[in-house]
Amino acid sequence: MSRWIALGLRSGVRTTRYPSHADPEAEIAPSAVIADLAALTPAQAAEVADLCPTSAITIEGDRERGGIAFDAGQCVMCGRCVRAFPGAFAFSPHPEVAVRSRGNLRVAAHWAGGSTPAVDAAAAELKLRSQRLFRRSLHIRHVDAGSCNGCESELQLLGSPEYDLHRLGLFFTPTPRHADALLVTGVVTRQMEQPLRDTYDAMPGPKIVVAAGVCAIGGGVFEGGFMVNGPLDRILPVDVYVPGCPPTPLALLHGLLVAVGRGAGRYRAGGVSDGD
Ligand code: SF4
Ligand code: SF4
Repeated sequence: MSRWIALGLRSGVRTTRYPSHADPEAEIAPSAVIADLAALTPAQAAEVADLCPTSAITIEGDRERGGIAFDAGQCVMCGRCVRAFPGAFAFSPHPEVAVRSRGNLRVAAHWAGGSTPAVDAAAAELKLRSQRLFRRSLHIRHVDAGSCNGCESELQLLGSPEYDLHRLGLFFTPTPRHADALLVTGVVTRQMEQPLRDTYDAMPGPKIVVAAGVCAIGGGVFEGGFMVNGPLDRILPVDVYVPGCPPTPLALLHGLLVAVGRGAGRYRAGGVSDGD
């Protein structure tokens, strides 16, 4: 027993001080890719689109009038583009990659007339009332709607001493009746669509929906699969998107803080960090 006490004293406090202090280990496991598409020639753009194992990088149109698009909501972080074109792609140096607007995960550049910065879709604004209500405490119901369990491994870490989500007033609950937020991982398979809808309907309002991981956001490598009914925002109104495959624990923490209005969604796929 005394050996464990001595070990604990020697180890000190291991819990991250995030979000009040930056986590010094955040860069070890990057949370997303950012892209400067204007740095690519049309030929390079075609090459990198071929390298990408998902539809995260796509070519639109032809060499004269077309362009290239990058969608962090479909990026599985394989790193191929970063290795091949380090001047145009990089891993995000910070874990604050959750956004409230799906459009902030997308960026595009066009050959004619130079680059076009981030294509921002209409903002999916989180209801201010919900933010005020859940600011101090949030109970989360997690539903695996067809995940490979990679996202769940990261979610489990949130309860470990390293991240200790309870210190931030965030709790997982096994019942939707007690839940303020629905956190969904996985592609939403055909079999899971109805249970997911039932869970959402069983939650009291107001309620928040968080899409965690690229499978929930865009389908990832499973996009277009015959058993895939997702992405999630086709089925439920999504308030916060947390990219990554899987999202890191810090990215998930940040996403939950964004959901309750305690963090800014500052990520832009084009590397600009200036809003939600
Ligand atoms: S890191 Fe993302 S964008 Fe780059 S090649 Fe891999 S999946 Fe595609
Ligand atoms: S986002 Fe990646 S880790 Fe998460 S369920 Fe999909 S494939 Fe697995």
